[in-house]
This record gives sequence, C-alpha cells and structure tokens, in this order.
Amino acid sequence: MDRKPAALLSLVVPCYNEQESLPLFYQETIKIADKLKTQFNLDVEFVFVNDGSKDKTLEELRKLHSQDARVRYVSFSRNFGKESALYAGLGAARGEYVATLDADLQDPPSLIPEMVQFLHDHSDYDCVATRRSTRKGEPLIRSFFAQMFYRLINKMSDMEIVDGARDFRFMTRKFVDAVLAMGEYNRFSKGIFSWVGFKTHWISYENIERVAGKTKWSFWSLFKYSIEG
Ligand code: UDP
Ligand code: MG
Repeated sequence: MDRKPAALLSLVVPCYNEQESLPLFYQETIKIADKLKTQFNLDVEFVFVNDGSKDKTLEELRKLHSQDARVRYVSFSRNFGKESALYAGLGAARGEYVATLDADLQDPPSLIPEMVQFLHDHSDYDCVATRRSTRKGEPLIRSFFAQMFYRLINKMSDMEIVDGARDFRFMTRKFVDAVLAMGEYNRFSKGIFSWVGFKTHWISYENIERVAGKTKWSFWSLFKYSIEG
C-alpha cells in the first residue's frame, strides 16, 4: 500500500471565535495526521476558515501557519455563518479527500482513520457522514424544536435530512466537486450533501461537550437557520 504516491487529505475547519479551542484542536489533530501518514500514506493540509471572529482566532491561525507549512487559512472580513465558511473551505481545499470538522473537538478527529478505512474498503462510496446517537447535554427546548424541524422538513422535501446529522464528513474529491458545482448563494449543507446523491455511509457517536469557548448558536439563530433550510 505505501508504494502508492501519497494522497492529500484537506481538513476544512470553520472557526468563529475559537482562540481557545484552536491550539487544542491542532495538537489533537496532528497526532491523527501522523497516524494517517503511517497507516494510509495520507498527507494532511489544514484549511481553517476564520468566519469574521472578534477574538484572536486570526492571530492563532497566523501563528499556526508560521509554525507548520501544512496549515492554510481563509479569513472573512465579517461573520457569514458556518455554511458559508464550510463552502469557502471546500473551495480552497486541494486534497483528493476532504473532511469537514468543527474547531471545538466536538467532531472527534480520532474517527478519521476509520472513515478513511471505510472508503478504502468500499470504492462505491464517496462519503462517510456522522450523526450523534444522543442529544445528551442539550437543553430540552432545543431538542424539542430540533425534532419538530426534522419531522417537518422530511415531510416537505424529497431529500432525506437525517436527525442528529453533524457537519463532520469525510468525502472524495468527486463528492466535493459535486457540492461545489451546486454553488448557490443560500446553501443548506445538510440538504445539499444528500442532494448530490452519492453513496454515503453513516456512523454514530455520542455527543461530547466542546473543549473550550462556547456555542455560537442561540435559540433564535437556530430557529432562523431552520426556516432558511
Ligand atoms: N462557526 C462558524 N461560524 C459561525 C458559527 C460557528 O464558523 O457563525 C463554527 C464554530 O467555530 C465551530 C463550528 O462552526 O467550529 C460549530 O459551531 P458551534 O460549536 O458554535 O455549534 P454547536 O456545536 O454548538 O452546534
Ligand atoms: Mg460545537
């Protein structure tokens, strides 16, 4: 296997006010990068997207970039929201494989080797997606509205929108290019990713707390997001 030329995996990470999470995320993820190199001869590049953070996120990214040539970043002048950050990150990614994951370690990078393995073993699949197996630790009101939202949207649309689906995904270049080709202004990524229609394998994991900082979602911002969706 290691006679094959090294392939590149881009890790796309949206960041809004993540100055505290970023160093922890980086430390954790480079360990996985080492593992991917030895196990699969896979190189890693980081594509961080600073989504108009008001804290020292951009300074942190500059620092990481100056220390590690694998670290690249895109920076927005203002906050455009996670969807836009993800989309820009996918556009900037150069890898044959791309994974999207949050900066707060709620999407465990330790799952990535498993995702790579799955696509290696199943060449008819183009995506490994994740969902939370529980809503543990989430405010009840949020769980309630989330459930209502999924019930409603699945009644309304032909695409299947999976409850508990996270934006933590591992994709082939083919899949990413299809998502990018959709290129619409108001993207609802949970829908777009199912819309492109390639075979997707789902894995579940337990909800975990963010490693530092706090969630960017208020009840009303989630409500607005669901209406847009
Ligand atoms: N995020 C972003 N732009 C935003 C809000 C969030 O790029 O406007 C990023 C954030 O930095 C994190 C990820 O999206 O990496 C998920 O955000 P958060 O942890 O706040 O959401 P939750 O996990 O609570 O759903
Ligand atoms: Mg989070």
